[in-house]
Amino acid sequence: MENVKINCPFCGKTTLFAIYTPSFFQAHRSHSSASGSKTTYFKTKKKYEVQSPCPNCGKSVKEIQKALIEGKKDPEKEKKILERLKKQGLDFNVQTKF
Ligand SMILES: [Zn+2]
Repeated sequence: MENVKINCPFCGKTTLFAIYTPSFFQAHRSHSSASGSKTTYFKTKKKYEVQSPCPNCGKSVKEIQKALIEGKKDPEKEKKILERLKKQGLDFNVQTKF
């Protein structure tokens, strides 16, 4: 785990503090009567624990973390997709979608 400074992935104007945990392998011991004890490994996901919502654009901690993990979105592209969906008669609300 390390403390990192990140730029808000939405507005890019503010510096936010986050605790970054890289992905790693974690051992998990399981006991079963059939095969005795067994150690399996699984890979955890990398994660960012953002310390505060963005004071500039008001995005929540959850939204920022999601954007950091999934990569920066292209707002113009997203807008076009939304417009297309609206034309198709779908009322797509991004705010409540997440
Ligand atoms: Zn922001």
